[in-house]
Amino acid sequence: MTKPRIVIVGGGFGGLAAAKALKDTPAEIILIDRANHHLFQPLLYQVATSVLTPAQIATPIRGILRKQRNATVILGEVTGVDKDRKCVIVRDADREDVRVSYDYLILATGVTHSYFGHNEFEEFAPGLKSLADAVAIRNKILQAFEQAEAEEDPSRHRDLLTFILVGAGPTGVEMASALAILVRSTLRSDFRRIDPASARLVLVDMAPRVLPPFSEDLSAAAKRRLEELGVEVKLGHSVDQIDDDGIVVAGERIASKTVIWTAGVAPSPAGKWLKVETDRAGRVRVQKDVTVPGHPEIFVVGDTASFEENGKPLPGVAQVAMQQGRYAGKLIHSQIAGSTPPGPFSYFDKGNMAVVGKGFAVLQSHKVRMSGFGAWLAWAAIHLQFLATSSLRLTVFLQWVWTYFTGQRGSRLIVNHHGSQPAKAAEETSSKAAVA
Ligand SMILES: Cc1cc2nc3c(=O)[nH]c(=O)nc-3n(C[C@H](O)[C@H](O)[C@H](O)COP(=O)(O)OP(=O)(O)OC[C@H]3O[C@@H](n4cnc5c(N)ncnc54)[C@H](O)[C@@H]3O)c2cc1C
Repeated sequence: MTKPRIVIVGGGFGGLAAAKALKDTPAEIILIDRANHHLFQPLLYQVATSVLTPAQIATPIRGILRKQRNATVILGEVTGVDKDRKCVIVRDADREDVRVSYDYLILATGVTHSYFGHNEFEEFAPGLKSLADAVAIRNKILQAFEQAEAEEDPSRHRDLLTFILVGAGPTGVEMASALAILVRSTLRSDFRRIDPASARLVLVDMAPRVLPPFSEDLSAAAKRRLEELGVEVKLGHSVDQIDDDGIVVAGERIASKTVIWTAGVAPSPAGKWLKVETDRAGRVRVQKDVTVPGHPEIFVVGDTASFEENGKPLPGVAQVAMQQGRYAGKLIHSQIAGSTPPGPFSYFDKGNMAVVGKGFAVLQSHKVRMSGFGAWLAWAAIHLQFLATSSLRLTVFLQWVWTYFTGQRGSRLIVNHHGSQPAKAAEETSSKAAVA
């Protein structure tokens, strides 16, 4: 008898948790991801602000699953699902429309940026979602300092040294505070013509307070901390315009060469592939067992799923994705192995945390609310624990200790994509130049 095949799309928090929950299942598991790595998104802002290197927050998916003999990892981009023929449609490096059939399907394809209908902002305000985004933002920030140092006209320094973050949720707050530490301490003595500490940092949001998922007192504590670090917090106004020269907010133009989008997200097209009901944001409405109505073999988990509990959709956080992925894996295992199935999915909320600069975080878990150094230690311990491998835990821990005590950061490199010219091309270019 052939083994049932379980296709998992996405090797993020949800997809990987599902694959691991299926490790003892007598089935063939195929995990498809368009990236070759699992990414620890909560620390992306530390790559963007030069604290960590990309390799410290990402691990090859096939490396993580190397000991799981029933799992095969395929690098490819899913472009659709044929529910009737029970197959996913995949594009890889040199082929289009490759069909991969399944008996069970788990979609865990996460989210992408949303510019709330203003896609024209994207060109000027990159978002932070992938490793490539983090490296591009790191390049942009470091490049601004280099340009300012080279610029002899001091009137241009102001625009180059103004950094704007649009969106004061956890990513915006963490990024703004990390940038404040970068400019006020790490870069302090590295430049001669400019003073990096004079950089202007602005955090903008249309919401009336920073960190809306947190209680009002924690959100006020985070705002105070940001202001102590020298971040200007502008709340209650949406951004009207973003262009090459900066932003317009509440009728005021703020000139800047570096605007970063840390606001909305939009789900992957899973709902369109499946042609099923979605919520207003476009996330697939799933049932109590995280399956799609009418299709007990199709599961949607994590950020791209809409699961209501107590009348409210669950938030797009890693814990939800991991718990749903694990749940889907266990349910499929019970169906294949003929064991007792788990009851309906129920989310165990362990709480929220956000770090606001060196040695300060806010933490909210049920009735516990903390801010300050204790919360920061808890934040550090929990984030280390959830990194994918022991080697990452060790290197990140050491880097944090080093950065904490010395102020120095791990990766202040501007990495551009123009490689060195091959010798022949270089010769041709110089001989053309000589002829001209
Ligand atoms: C900057 C940032 C900071 C965050 N901070 C926190 C935090 O502090 N705490 C917290 O709990 N949560 C945080 N989150 C949210 C958390 O990362 C997500 O909730 C979580 O990653 C969702 O898991 P997922 O499995 O649904 O999706 P993801 O982890 O995003 O994984 C989706 C996977 O699917 C793959 N994929 C997507 N489309 C396709 C396709 N068409 N074909 C093949 N593969 C595809 C992607 O490559 C990716 O590997 C943060 C997110 C970001 C972006």
